[in-house]
Order: sequence, then C-alpha cells, then structure tokens
Amino acid sequence: MNKLMKKSLKERLAILSDAAKYDASCASSGTSKRDSLGSGGLGSTEGSGICHAYAPDGRCISLLKILLTNFCIYDCAYCINRSSSNVERARFSPDEVVWLTLEFYRRNYIEGLFLSSGIIRSSDQTMEEMVRIARDLRTIHNFRGYIHLKTIPEASAALIEEAGLYADRLSINIELPTDAGIGKFAPEKRPDNIRRSMGELRLKIEEMAEPTLQSKRRKKFAPAGQSTQMIVGADGASDATILGTSSRLYGSYGLKRVYYSAFSPIPDSSKNLPLIKPPLIREHRLYQADWLYRFYGFSIGEITASRTDGMLDLDLDPKLAWALGHRDQFPVDVNGADKERLLRVPGFGTKTVKGILSARRFRRLRLDDLKRLGVSLRKVQPFVTAEGWTPGRLADRSDLRAMFEPKPEQLSLL
Ligand code: SF4
Repeated sequence: MNKLMKKSLKERLAILSDAAKYDASCASSGTSKRDSLGSGGLGSTEGSGICHAYAPDGRCISLLKILLTNFCIYDCAYCINRSSSNVERARFSPDEVVWLTLEFYRRNYIEGLFLSSGIIRSSDQTMEEMVRIARDLRTIHNFRGYIHLKTIPEASAALIEEAGLYADRLSINIELPTDAGIGKFAPEKRPDNIRRSMGELRLKIEEMAEPTLQSKRRKKFAPAGQSTQMIVGADGASDATILGTSSRLYGSYGLKRVYYSAFSPIPDSSKNLPLIKPPLIREHRLYQADWLYRFYGFSIGEITASRTDGMLDLDLDPKLAWALGHRDQFPVDVNGADKERLLRVPGFGTKTVKGILSARRFRRLRLDDLKRLGVSLRKVQPFVTAEGWTPGRLADRSDLRAMFEPKPEQLSLL
C-alpha cells in the first residue's frame, strides 16, 4: 500500500483540511472536540475541514473543504505545499473523498464540497481525479449539494469543461496580482495560460447558459460561475495594483468573485519572501474595496486615491476614507438624493439605500427612520441631512477622522 495512504482516514482528513485553509473561499469553523463519527451519537463540534461560504443565492452554507492531496510537483514559493516544503503529506483516493462527502452530508454537517489539490504526477491526472469525484457524486450517488472545484493549472480544456458539467462553481487561480510576481514566485505557471483558461471557461459558461433551440432549456454548466484567488502580500504589489488586476479580471472574464488570501509566510529565507504575515485587516479592506467597485459605483482610482503609496487606509473602511477626503460632496439629502449619491454615504449598504428609496415615497425621513433601517447614526450623521437634522459644522470638524479611528488598545502587562 502506498506509504501516504497508511495514515488513517481521520489523520489524513486533519492534514488535508488544514492544508486547504490557504484556499480562500470561506472562514473556517470548529470549536472544541466533540465528535460522534463512529460512536453512534449525533453531531460534532470538531468540524475538521468544515468551513462556511456563501451560495449563489446568498445563503451561508457549510462545506467540506479539503485537498485531494497536499503533495505537489510544483514549487510555488508562497505555498506551504510546494515540493520543497517539509510539511507532512497525505492523499485521499477519489473514492474516499466521495465517501467523506456523502457521510458528512448525511450527518447534516455540510451542504457541499470545496475541493482543491496539489498536483500529483501531472496536471491532467490530478484534474481527472477531481472530475471523477464530482462525476461520481452527481451521477452515481445523485448528490445534489453544492460543489466548488479548484481547477488545476495547465489542465486540459476538455477536463475543465467536463468539470463544469458537475460543479456549481469552478475557480482558476490567478495566484498573484502581476505577471512579474508569478514569474518570480511561481515560475512553473504561465499567466497567459491562466488567462486563456479563464477566457475559455467564460465562453463555455455563456454558451451553456443560452437556451437550446429544441428544448428551450439551459444546460447546467458551472451555474454559480467562476472565481479566482489572489495571494496578497507575497510580492510587493500595492492595493491599487491588486484591485486594478481584479477589475480587469471581472471585466474580461465575468468572474463572480476574486478571493484575496493573505500570504502566510513560510520560514525559508532562500525563497526571498517577506517573513511577516500581512495583517488580516488588509485582506478585509481589499474585500471592502472590491465590494465598492462592484456594487457601489466607485472606480478603483477613487478608492485608492486617498494615499500616495496606493495602499488602502487600514484604520478606516474605504468608503469612509473616501468620504472624509471628499467632504465637499456631503451632506447628502436622504429625502432627495438619487441612488448613486446615497450609495456613497458611509454606513449605507445597498439594502439600506433600497429601504430609503422605498420608504421616502410615503413620508419625509428622519434620523429615527434610518435607525429603524439598521443604520449606525454615529457613522452617518456627519454625512446626511434628513427631516429635522442637518450636520451643521460637524462635517467640517478637523477631528472628524479621529472620531472614527479605532481607539488605541492598552497592552496587557500580564
Ligand atoms: S501548484 Fe498549487 S499546490 Fe502546488 S505549489 Fe503551487 S500553489 Fe501550491
């Protein structure tokens, strides 16, 4: 028996779910150990490999998030699973992944599978095994849960196409924000090939979404679309560069989502990588900025103009940072402003704006009405006028920024 298979299934699950945490798709979960697998009991809090992600309909769902294997023939400098890394290795067989998915699903631990993998032998062989897992789940076991497959770099177009028949979502990792970064840190990967695969996938998704002439029905092909992942902080790319790359990917390939993954430093100075993990808050700010670009009508230039180094302000969310730098555009009248202007008010989300537009058809809105819509008055007061409210000089106060900055924390002496 293969040495890698000698570890028990549970041991391999621990290794391969831990290895999958670097694949951004969700926030991992799990608390203290309490597990009913094999005991006849019910439920588990251990949750090895279980994470949460948002389904296309906006529901938060739990997924079994694992790698098929963390063995890899590539040597991407930023990756813990690279061939030269000395991490503990493990591998599942396709049948084991199918079994685990079904068992977790039957026990109600998960609503779907997120599967990624290192590359074993060749890209096509690995991709073939991943496709087989998705195919067996769908066609043999009639599995109706959500499946997200990470495609393998350089896998053939035919295999990626087949994967789309069974997976809800496919992702092709762009890896790093610039081609130069990929050339330096992942020299076995070809940015042109990554983009070509994304382009082919987009065409296929669009082609299959068209109703056929005969049946008038659409074929099911990666119905939740494609996404990608970008490592943040491994190369020196600024937030402006990262977001610029994202905007091009959204525009050119119809991506549903770019996932930002804060680089986890690997203690190997020979790889010439930073040894300090970028703060998770940077990842969070990038998601917020990405959101402003996609749903709030901001351009990347507007979002990143507040600092000369092209980095986002870590202390303030990007919309608030923009508003503080553009005070001449405020206050915004909640009873008269159009949707585009309302969307620029810090503290107003898309749902809030919808609620305001609908409620003001019947009456003039006061601050209390905004409160009822779930708005933080502290955040919006300097930026809006409403019935009975005008911010007066509040919006011009020189210490307005300080009012929103996080309070310094007293370090514990113990
Ligand atoms: S191909 Fe993927 S798993 Fe392999 S070293 Fe590169 S990033 Fe890691």
